[in-house]
Amino acid sequence: MYKKLIMKNNKNNLSRPDKHGYYGEFGGAYIPEMLFPNVEELQKKYKKITGENSFKKELSLLLKDFAGRPTPLFHAERLSKEFNTNIYLKREDLCHTGAHKINNTIGQVLLAERLGKKRIIAETGAGQHGVATATVCALRGLECIVFMGAKDIERQAPNVARMKMLGATVIPALSGSQTLKDATNEAIRDWINHPHNTHYIIGSVVGPHPYPDMVARFQSIISKEIRQQLLKETGDRCPSHVIACVGGGSNAAGAFYHFIEEKKVKLIAVEAAGMGLTSGKTAATTQLGTTGILHGSKSLLMQTADGQVTEPHSISAGLDYPGIGPLHANLFKQGRVLFKNATDEEALQAAFHLAKTEGIIPALETAHAFAVLKDISFKKNDRVVICLSGRGDKDLATYMTYL
Ligand SMILES: *Cc1c(COP(=O)(O)O)cnc(C)c1O
Repeated sequence: MYKKLIMKNNKNNLSRPDKHGYYGEFGGAYIPEMLFPNVEELQKKYKKITGENSFKKELSLLLKDFAGRPTPLFHAERLSKEFNTNIYLKREDLCHTGAHKINNTIGQVLLAERLGKKRIIAETGAGQHGVATATVCALRGLECIVFMGAKDIERQAPNVARMKMLGATVIPALSGSQTLKDATNEAIRDWINHPHNTHYIIGSVVGPHPYPDMVARFQSIISKEIRQQLLKETGDRCPSHVIACVGGGSNAAGAFYHFIEEKKVKLIAVEAAGMGLTSGKTAATTQLGTTGILHGSKSLLMQTADGQVTEPHSISAGLDYPGIGPLHANLFKQGRVLFKNATDEEALQAAFHLAKTEGIIPALETAHAFAVLKDISFKKNDRVVICLSGRGDKDLATYMTYL
């Protein structure tokens, strides 16, 4: 009976969790007991603090003058002509530090300050979230510790150098596959050991409640701006389609957020198929995943029959994650969002094509969103918005091997 009520509640509002942090059957907070005080503090305070006028003012000023918002909504003429429709690019690549991630880190640092936390920890895979976190910590004079898989530290040297230059301490995670999920485990361990003075900034819409909701709200500025910009440009706030790539799902959550209840807007998420869905080297969670618990919440994840998390693969480090946030797991299950996928090869081709067609070099993650354009049939007067989540400077070493 109780469960049914929750389900019904969530059918009416797919963008927000119930008070226990569930989106339908997904979400919640599955954490070690030692973390209860920290997570409960966040659960109790995040809405109140972020709802205060002084918080909103400070956040919007930093988003404007430090991050560079609003980001443009760019009408991509040559791409539009090619697909015989109207394509608009939401230019998150023009944010300070080169991607949407800073929207969330600014918000969470302001929240940490109000919680009286002077020490910030974060996990990072490609280093984009680590750089965004180190950047805002430098701005506010906070101690910053970033956990990163030892293998990723080797692969992402420029971002490691950036974090260090910004004053952060980068700690290698030496366990397991020495990649993102191991760095996340190290960050959780550190939080357990420093419960009083430390805030853990999670970089996507994953983790225990309230993180998925909190991060989605901070990223929802993306769709808020799209509505205003599209209204001005076309007289209608709603696009026909919104397309975004999905790792944990934060840029997609931000780009979809204010359209989730607008049923006429088609929402399309693109996962990394890696070498192909059946290759065993993939990160297409909704296609291969089953329900389980990863990093503090119940969601879809890729795992073996006995519950071992499967090693994911994607050419883009930001999509190389074996799970997906609970918001997206529910949107997938309810059929509100269409989940497609693109292989490494398709993403590479899409990146080179966008560079030559529109003069924009996208991040490899972002390129996945462009790779599905060829598989969708658009009408002449459709208005298609693609979330251009980040720029490709960080991926030049990969792109260079294909030139
Ligand atoms: C980190 C990253 C992603 C993937 O993360 P989400 O939380 O799914 O958005 C996508 N694009 C870029 C540019 C990134 O840096």
